[in-house]
Amino acid sequence: MHDMLPRLQNHTFPAIARDRIDTLQLNLGYLCNISCIHCHVNAGPRRRELMSREIMELALLVAQRRAIGTFDLTGGTPEMNPEFRWLVSAAHERGIHVMDRLNPTIIEEPGYEWVAEFHAKYGVELIVSLPCYSQANVDEQRGAGVFDASIRALQRLNALGYGRPDRGLALNLVYNPNGAFLPPPQEKLRDDYRRLLFDNFSIVFNDLFAIANMPIQRFGSWLVSKGRFDDYMNALRGAHRAENLNRVMCRNLVSVDYLGDLYDCDFNQMLKIPLGGRTNPSHLRDLLDGTIPRRIGVADHCFGCTAGQGSSCGGALTATTHVEAMSCANIASAAPTLHEQARCASG
Ligand code: SF4
Ligand code: SF4
Repeated sequence: MHDMLPRLQNHTFPAIARDRIDTLQLNLGYLCNISCIHCHVNAGPRRRELMSREIMELALLVAQRRAIGTFDLTGGTPEMNPEFRWLVSAAHERGIHVMDRLNPTIIEEPGYEWVAEFHAKYGVELIVSLPCYSQANVDEQRGAGVFDASIRALQRLNALGYGRPDRGLALNLVYNPNGAFLPPPQEKLRDDYRRLLFDNFSIVFNDLFAIANMPIQRFGSWLVSKGRFDDYMNALRGAHRAENLNRVMCRNLVSVDYLGDLYDCDFNQMLKIPLGGRTNPSHLRDLLDGTIPRRIGVADHCFGCTAGQGSSCGGALTATTHVEAMSCANIASAAPTLHEQARCASG
């Protein structure tokens, strides 16, 4: 059992049922070139778990059998899997839409000079993490120099046509809070990002997704170490909105880990809650012929998906009604941040 699970297990979160699956979210491995403080994967340069080509082939077969039209690639940094390019080209050949959750700093790593052009060639939809338009906030959360590297990466992607109207190369940014608080309203934040990134760096993008921090893994440990875990959970529970239940991402996707084991979402993958909340894990090969359980395995971290405007891999689920509009810069200065943990993580 994952050590965070006992804190979340005796839950009050309502039951939810699965709908039609249109996406396989493939976690290609936990290897990453950086170690962000908020990371729900505990990814980093020392992780060695990587999905094999054999599991990728199985995913292609499952997609074909079940008419699943989208692969959502995540990690770690998906491009660090040596089979990444093979998978994307194979999916492209079969008409599968590929989304990639891109850590933009990989574009400047030696050996990864191919990343930007490769994505453009295959029309990969990019979801790029940039937790603020302020250098101080990004570097605090993700490490020194990350903001500048991210800006250069976005400019390079723009030069290839990403984020520009009518080019068919979608570039979406991801914001997540720099501390123990819910994201500010997504629409307002999107407008601020659009204006400031264009004015300061001539950067354009298609959309911005505001995603809440999950009380698990590195962020969960930070909450526990600071004695803030219960406060954060109470804030999530208190902001729960029932209308978000119909839109949570687990209703339409299945998460696959590097070994091919199945989960209801990437968060459950990290907590080792098997698909459907079953006792034993299901495997990708079971999806060739078997049925997918309607039940979804929930625990109290699920309030992270339904609090306030809601949160999913595609950002907010409903319009915000209760959070005062703040920018990513001033909300960070008004709330407890991850600064102390930043020192801990880099040590
Ligand atoms: S949040 Fe993303 S970029 Fe940061 S350590 Fe985790 S996987 Fe890597
Ligand atoms: S944490 Fe996962 S299982 Fe829970 S509501 Fe969110 S997406 Fe669904």
